[in-house]
Amino acid sequence: MRNEIVDPRLILVEKHLASIKNILAISSGKGGVGKSVIATTMALLLARKGKRVGLLDLDFYGPSCLRILGSEIVFPEEEKGIIPPTIHGVKVISIEYFTKDNPLPVRGEEITNAIIELLAISVWGDLDYLVIDLPPGMGDELLEILKLIPESKHVVVTTPSILSISVVKKLVKLLKNANENILGGIVNMVREKGDIDIGISILGKISFDEKLDEALGDVEKLLNTNFAKELNAIVEGIDKSLG
Ligand code: ADP
Ligand code: MG
Repeated sequence: MRNEIVDPRLILVEKHLASIKNILAISSGKGGVGKSVIATTMALLLARKGKRVGLLDLDFYGPSCLRILGSEIVFPEEEKGIIPPTIHGVKVISIEYFTKDNPLPVRGEEITNAIIELLAISVWGDLDYLVIDLPPGMGDELLEILKLIPESKHVVVTTPSILSISVVKKLVKLLKNANENILGGIVNMVREKGDIDIGISILGKISFDEKLDEALGDVEKLLNTNFAKELNAIVEGIDKSLG
């Protein structure tokens, strides 16, 4: 019988994710639909409810969680792995801590390696929720991430635009084919009433909020926007069904 060679980092990934009750993976297929603001604000809202929350920014194409939180890029403390810094009550790990302003490796394999590394060394401790801002796209990187984080519960973000809907429908198919656990969709930047069908249940809708952009980087302002209030209703629904 042949011995399987197991990447030791994968054992660490499993170990470090084992102390997390719920992993919420926020995806969209397409950029610019509000995935990062939703992931970041969701983490803040859960933390304000007294939950133990982590936020993991895996969008190596355009990491934005730190900017939304108004935080500088501080390198996490090292102690048998890396301890996520707590920012506004949320433990945050961003791929940006490691990439800074450098352009990212273009090859998919290097990206996958960087993500395995990051997941292997991050020591979250006990969490009620880990919210993950996934990269846009449906390429190999996404499939690799799904494999690495098998317990993810997916929240898929779309706008009412047919351009977003057509991409998201493909993403939903991909997630279903991969037997992923899909919680449902969020329709963001809604300007008028109307139903939207993306092949999964809709957890809620969020109106277009023209005040949102000026609140980015200021957490108190952000949590006072209509955007955050509408997202909070969705978060309460999710917490009720999972908590
Ligand atoms: P993604 O992560 O999907 O690329 P972002 O979260 O970076 O998208 O959001 C893209 C832009 O859209 C940001 O400027 C953000 O403030 C804005 N935005 C997101 N949701 C809304 C909304 N409901 N109303 C108004 N602007 C929004
Ligand atoms: Mg983003």
